[in-house]
Amino acid sequence: SGELLDGLSVRDVRVSFDGFTAVDGVSLEVPAGDIRFLIGPNGAGKTTLVDAITGLVRATGSVRFGDQELLGRPVHRISRLGIGRTFQTSTIFEELSVVQNLDIAAGARRGWVTLARRRRGIPDEVAAALETIGLTGRADQLAGTLAHGQKQWLEIGMLLVQDARLLLLDEPVAGMSHEERDATGALLETVSRDRTVVVIEHDMDFLRRFARSVTVLHAGRVLSEGTVAQVQADPRVQEVYLGH
Ligand code: ADP
Repeated sequence: SGELLDGLSVRDVRVSFDGFTAVDGVSLEVPAGDIRFLIGPNGAGKTTLVDAITGLVRATGSVRFGDQELLGRPVHRISRLGIGRTFQTSTIFEELSVVQNLDIAAGARRGWVTLARRRRGIPDEVAAALETIGLTGRADQLAGTLAHGQKQWLEIGMLLVQDARLLLLDEPVAGMSHEERDATGALLETVSRDRTVVVIEHDMDFLRRFARSVTVLHAGRVLSEGTVAQVQADPRVQEVYLGH
């Protein structure tokens, strides 16, 4: 149920492509309500791990969200269990308004009932999402005319109206201004109050300011885990990033 906070439990997950092992026995625990940042050099396996969690690639091992096993289920079933994901590429409809984008996302969840209800005003969950992402005053603005940061927040809003309880975000602050990064950090804090959040992010300045816990991947494995200060002080992490 939507009221219950669930954590993510990844156990010994492996993904291979034609004999190449991209994710090589990853285990990690993201407690309910946590924001876990996933970092690591290019090719470390971050995207492939998120692909495994969301059902886009076949994997072995176990991925549990709450008491539900995700591995082996099709993408749409995993999505219906409350797993929501953003990509680096935009999925918003630029020629539609902000609220229409949220309506479509909510409709995809609710079988289009909300589009009919829209005639009687903005549905509650859409109004709540608008408030959370700070776009209430821009509900009727064409999404294509939003600033870069606002588009990213709309992507997150589309997951909120779909009742996503685990958010998997791919580089949400890429290309953002300093102010937009700060607002995104605050947004992540807000959404994690009743959701669990996993964020792939490279921006170390952003991590130092907003990350509570970090998992470092390298060559398909967990290299280090802890606070930003802890992983930065880890010689194994320094070696990988400095390229010794
Ligand atoms: P990251 O997101 O950390 O940069 P990826 O998960 O994208 O890393 O990639 C991990 C490794 O798996 C890389 O070596 C990449 O080339 C490889 N890889 C990813 N997807 C595929 C695929 N569909 N087929 C073959 N190799 C892949």
